[in-house]
Amino acid sequence: MYDLKSMCADDFINDAEILETLKYAEDNKNNIELIDSILEKAKPNYTDHGTFCKGLTHREASVLLACDIPEKVKEMYDLAEEIKKAFYGNRIVIFAPLYLSNYCVNNCVYCPYHAKNTHIPRKKLTQEEVAKEVIALQDMGHKRLAIESGEDPVNNPIEYILDCIKTIYSIKHKNGAIRRVNVNIAATTVENYKKLKDAGIGTYILFQETYHKESYLKLHPQGPKHDYNYHTEAMDRAMDGGIDDVGLGVLFGLELYKYEFAGLLMHAEHLEAVHGVGPHTISVPRVKTAEDIDPNEFDGGISDDIFAKLCALIRIAVPYTGMIISTRESQAVREKVIRLGVSQVSGGSRTSVGGYAGYSLTERPHDTEQFDVSDQRTLDEVVRWLMEMGYIPSFCTACYREGRTGDRFMSLCKSGQIQNCCHPNALMTLKEFLMDYATDETRKIGEEMIKAELNNIPKDKVREVCKDHLEKIAEGIRDFRF
Ligand code: SAM
Repeated sequence: MYDLKSMCADDFINDAEILETLKYAEDNKNNIELIDSILEKAKPNYTDHGTFCKGLTHREASVLLACDIPEKVKEMYDLAEEIKKAFYGNRIVIFAPLYLSNYCVNNCVYCPYHAKNTHIPRKKLTQEEVAKEVIALQDMGHKRLAIESGEDPVNNPIEYILDCIKTIYSIKHKNGAIRRVNVNIAATTVENYKKLKDAGIGTYILFQETYHKESYLKLHPQGPKHDYNYHTEAMDRAMDGGIDDVGLGVLFGLELYKYEFAGLLMHAEHLEAVHGVGPHTISVPRVKTAEDIDPNEFDGGISDDIFAKLCALIRIAVPYTGMIISTRESQAVREKVIRLGVSQVSGGSRTSVGGYAGYSLTERPHDTEQFDVSDQRTLDEVVRWLMEMGYIPSFCTACYREGRTGDRFMSLCKSGQIQNCCHPNALMTLKEFLMDYATDETRKIGEEMIKAELNNIPKDKVREVCKDHLEKIAEGIRDFRF
């Protein structure tokens, strides 16, 4: 039975509830009165104490997803853009993935790292190699990483992951530093989540892949990941282990997107109901071609238009949750969804183990690649592209370092103070990038952007302090933050 506060996956992601939701959505997809009332509920409420949004339940959001009336879909897109601007302004946070090991004991049928793939070379970075990768990433200008690893208790035990995190934080090359390490590793125990928390991680990310249990079991035929309930309940264990910021995600293309969308929102509702705080981020990967994998094998492939609609509706349904898009998507798709709600993008990414060090910015090794990268531009190109579209590329990592995690981050988001905090932090970290890593052309555009965007810091005092810090950054001092 559906019970959002239950700690059992079968209850909080309840199949019968999802099927009823889909039926309700289908029955009401042309019910203009209902659709209007849902859109009205989702609108931001601007007050003197900040901006507030109620978000939507999985049922309400599913009605909008089912609705194909062009004027209503346009209203959804406009609303998503409005909410995005209200909470995230024009800032886009930048990160890169770092693949540590592709040893894996699972057999996920969509992933080339599956244990039965005998022709992919297996590679695990030594700590010296991790250091080299980190130096290469720092030399590009990155400050925030998401570490990725296959699941293999012998080759990649938690101690190995912890050693890698320690190495990553210890490297200070020239003016570089990795200031936030997010972690995307397989579901684990509360004890191990505590260890990750103590190692100073940012967000713990785990993609559900699919919320459809029957499909999940088929898509993960062997290995520890086969256990649907253990996987689906992982975020509860992570939060019990003290990790405030968790990142959800569905691998779109495996199952029917309407089912996944309802499941994803039910998961967010569950975390909010049980832990008092919803997911920090939601990722929206789509399954991609990879060695040994043909995405056309999966029925649930979705068009770019449906993908955009999903992004817009996630933005409307969970307005305070960051949304992440990777280089799985092309420049054109990324452009579309950044406008509709995405708040974080990766740039200059390599999805192979040891893909950064020893290669030029345009060379990419394919031997251990997890999937084809669509957006192959360099980080400098991504930064320039964002600025040319009017977005401030932000390398900010301040929140978790200032203890603004979980509900404290959400309150900042709601209070309206974000513009006095995230905005100057974005400008200062962009300035660091421009000083240390940018090409002349990017630097020129960036300096102009910083000058103009200083005027968008509401508080005079904060603006003055920010200006002072910017001058100090130009003199060589680093790592200021609000
Ligand atoms: N091994 C960990 C786990 O099982 O959760 C996480 C790391 S895995 C490297 C990161 C994610 O890559 C997976 O959760 C999956 O969603 C995604 N992925 C795997 N194969 C993919 C493919 N062919 N196309 C796109 N994304 C893929």
